[in-house]
Amino acid sequence: MFHHTRFAQPDFRRQLDQCIHCGLCLPACPTYSINQLEMDSPRGRIALMRAAADGRIALDGAFQEHIDLCLGCRACETACPSGVQYGLLLETAKAALAGARGEERGATAATPQSTAAASLHSAPLASRLSHIIQRFGLRELMPHRKRLRLLARGLWLYQRLGLTKIAQRVLPSLPPALTTMEGMAPPIDLDFLDLSRPAPALAPRRGKVAFFTGCVQDAFLAGVNRATVRVLQRNGYEVHFPAAQTCCNAAALHSGDVTFAQTLARQNIDAFPADEFAAIINNAGGCGAALKGYDHLLADDPVYAVRARAFVAKVKDISEFLVDHLHNPPTGYVQARVAYVDSCHLRHGQKISKQPRALLRTIPGIELVELAQPDMCCGSAGIYNLLQPEMANQVLDAKLADIRAVNPGIIVAANTGCYMQMIYGVKRGGLRATVLHVVELLERSYANAA
Ligand code: SF4
Ligand code: SF4
Repeated sequence: MFHHTRFAQPDFRRQLDQCIHCGLCLPACPTYSINQLEMDSPRGRIALMRAAADGRIALDGAFQEHIDLCLGCRACETACPSGVQYGLLLETAKAALAGARGEERGATAATPQSTAAASLHSAPLASRLSHIIQRFGLRELMPHRKRLRLLARGLWLYQRLGLTKIAQRVLPSLPPALTTMEGMAPPIDLDFLDLSRPAPALAPRRGKVAFFTGCVQDAFLAGVNRATVRVLQRNGYEVHFPAAQTCCNAAALHSGDVTFAQTLARQNIDAFPADEFAAIINNAGGCGAALKGYDHLLADDPVYAVRARAFVAKVKDISEFLVDHLHNPPTGYVQARVAYVDSCHLRHGQKISKQPRALLRTIPGIELVELAQPDMCCGSAGIYNLLQPEMANQVLDAKLADIRAVNPGIIVAANTGCYMQMIYGVKRGGLRATVLHVVELLERSYANAA
C-alpha cells in the first residue's frame, strides 16, 4: 500500500519528480521566510526526501530535523505551478520516520532505507520522550470523548481555582511549550453539546445533516460546537450526532502513524451512513482536510475504498455548506471590526477561503478587514506549537504583526488549533480583541435579532 511501503513506492517517486525546482513556493513558506535556509523550504525538503528515498541519507539527523520543522501548512501546494502534492509527500516522510522509530503499529520494514534508519533508536532522550507522549495522547486521549471531557473538567477547575495566575508567575522559567500550552487554553465551558438525541430544525425543515464533533473541539470549545448546531437548526436542518464517531485522524497522520489513522478513518466511515444525510458537517479546518483525505488513505482497501469515496463526497466544512444553504440569513446588528484568520487546512488543504468571508459579510454591522498575508500560517499547525515552540512563536509573531496593523475588535478563526493559537496570540501580543469562530459570530447576530 502507498503509505505503508513509503519511499519505495512509484507514486511517491512520481510525486517527487513533479517538483521542477522552480522555487516559486519559497516566499509562501513560513519556515523559509524566517530561516532563509534552503533545507527549511519546500524545495529543500523535497530534495531531502529524494535523497532519503535514494538511500543517500539516513532517516535521522538533518532529515528528521528539517521535516519536523515543517508546519505542514501546505501553503507551498497553493503556490506550486507544477501541482506538487506536498501534503502527501510530507505524510509519507512522516510515516517513514515513524516506521524507522518502530512506532507505527504493524509497520512494514519493506525499504532498505528503513534499516539504515535504525539509528533513530539512539535519538536524544527528549525527542524519544516527546514521541512517547504524542503517541499516548494520540491513542489514549484523542479518540476517547469521555476522557477528553474529563480533562476539560480538570482544566475548568484549574481555571476556577485561579491557578492560572500562579502558573503565569512560574512559567517563564519553564520550557516554552508549557507557556504556550497554558496560554492557549480557552476559558472552559462545561456546557457540552448534548449528543444523546438529534437537534430538531428550528425553521421550515430543509433536510437532515450529520455533525462531526471533533475531539478537542468537543471538549475544549463546546461553545463553538453549540453555535454550529444552532445555526444549522435556524436554517432548517435537523442535526444528528452518530454515536460511534471518533477523532478525525489528522494528529495520527501528522505524527506518521498511518495504520492508526486508517483505523480511525474506518471507524468514522462505519459511524456515518453517508446516504442518510445531506451532508456530514465539521467546523474545524484541520479535521475537515483529514476527513476529505479518507478516500486517498483507504484507496487500496478492498472493503472501504468505495465507502470512503461516498463518505468524502458528503463531508463539508460548515462555511462551505452554509454559504449555499443560508436559508435564513442573520439580521441582528453586530458592530465590530473583524479580521478573519485563515486556517491553512481550510485555505490550502480544502481551498475554502471565500465562503467564511462571504458568511461574515452577511452579518449587519460587521466591518471585515483583510490581513496583509492571509495565506500565512499562524504557527499552530496541530501540536506544532508545543513541539517546536520557538519557530511557532516566530510564525505567530509575524501573524500578530499583521493583525495589529488592522486593529480588529474580533479575530475570527475556523479551526480548533488556530482558535486556541489566537487566544494565546492575543495574550502574547497584548491585543484588545476577542476570538470567535465564524458560527459564533453568526449565532451572535441571530441572538441579537431575537
Ligand atoms: S507545508 Fe508549509 S512549512 Fe512545510 S514546506 Fe510547505 S509551506 Fe513550508
Ligand atoms: S513551486 Fe512546486 S515545483 Fe517549484 S520548487 Fe516548489 S514544489 Fe517544486
